[in-house]
Amino acid sequence: MVERNPNLAKLRAGYLFPEIARRKKAVIEENPEAKIISLGIGDTTEPLSGGIVSSLVEACRGMGTLEGYSGYGAEQGMGDLREKIAEKLYRGIVKPEEVYVSDGAKCDTGRLQVMFGAEATVAVQDPSYPVYVDGSVILGQTGGYNDDASQFDGIEYMRCDASNNFFPDLSALPRTDLIYFCSPNNPTGAVATKEQLKELIDFAKKNRSILIFDAAYSAYIEDPELPRSIFEVEGSREVALEINSFSKMAGFTGVRLGWSVVPQELKFEDGTPVSKDWNRVVTTLFNGASNLVQKGGLACLSDAGYSEVEEMIHYYKTNATIIKKALTEMGLEVYGGVNSPYCWARMEGKGSWEAFEEILTQAFVVTTPGAGFGPAGEGFVRFSSFGHRDDVEEAVERLRKHLG
Ligand code: PLP
Repeated sequence: MVERNPNLAKLRAGYLFPEIARRKKAVIEENPEAKIISLGIGDTTEPLSGGIVSSLVEACRGMGTLEGYSGYGAEQGMGDLREKIAEKLYRGIVKPEEVYVSDGAKCDTGRLQVMFGAEATVAVQDPSYPVYVDGSVILGQTGGYNDDASQFDGIEYMRCDASNNFFPDLSALPRTDLIYFCSPNNPTGAVATKEQLKELIDFAKKNRSILIFDAAYSAYIEDPELPRSIFEVEGSREVALEINSFSKMAGFTGVRLGWSVVPQELKFEDGTPVSKDWNRVVTTLFNGASNLVQKGGLACLSDAGYSEVEEMIHYYKTNATIIKKALTEMGLEVYGGVNSPYCWARMEGKGSWEAFEEILTQAFVVTTPGAGFGPAGEGFVRFSSFGHRDDVEEAVERLRKHLG
């Protein structure tokens, strides 16, 4: 018999979203007539626009012709897509050869964890996207649970809540090799200012740490004062790499396309460029993003395609405004929902899972319990703005009726 990987055995609960799906299924079984509305998982819902679909179809048709057929491509991505990402999304502040096209930011997170290895020490925002912690646990970067079983030993949880303006107290934070930082944050919707990111960069530089900046929701930032990329902040190129994705920007959650940016100046302690090892990992463990999908990505970044993308983002942001307004009028303390697709609401006097169950069983609306994102998420619920407008409007009506 094969011994089970002990690191996987450390993951106490199932991954958050399958657990939500399980509870939703149970409610459907008990109430087969109920129309459940999901403001939960944060998956996009709106169809891709015509121009982007045409480019995907055209790429598929090309594969059926002798001239258009292509097999394996460059593992780092098509040259023209790398160029377009550098030019359109970064306005030239990163170089095309620093862009690595991938099948998504989650997959890149896993490969980064492989690259940094089991000995790397880690700090994460609390609350944050669960993959940073769970992936680190699978890799063996942690011990077991601490005494109150809310946190893993070996991971520094940087508490980010309303009391500190959702930015960690760095003076109290021990040194770690890696610092994960996501802005706009999932789940709180908080967006870090340039000054805050500068503080983080200086902290990483002082400690000789590497910052893994997750900008998966950067396209939702409309305030021109707020940075969309860590590379807009001075000093970042020596300490940070960035992951990003077409998932929430262009509705590509199922299509699958993302990228990372690893600047040439970012080095390991022995002077090896991080990009050298990243290239080795990408070429060894990943054979490149689908050539069809990369054509779709290129279409998203054309002038016409990008206006279609912006229209979709505007649609979801309007949903966020509707949700935030309703929750605020219901008297809840609500964060996010601006420059971000997520609203983060305190459920006074209730645990996250208790509030989740109440909203699910009374209003038939699926949310995400804040505790699933880390101990500091306890007592909160996340509302996602990814949904059809009619559903969002109906969901807020039901919330007003049952919880208002
Ligand atoms: N990063 C954050 C913060 C996310 O919330 C998500 C998806 O929900 C991802 C990354 C994953 O993105 P992708 O679909 O590109 O794997």
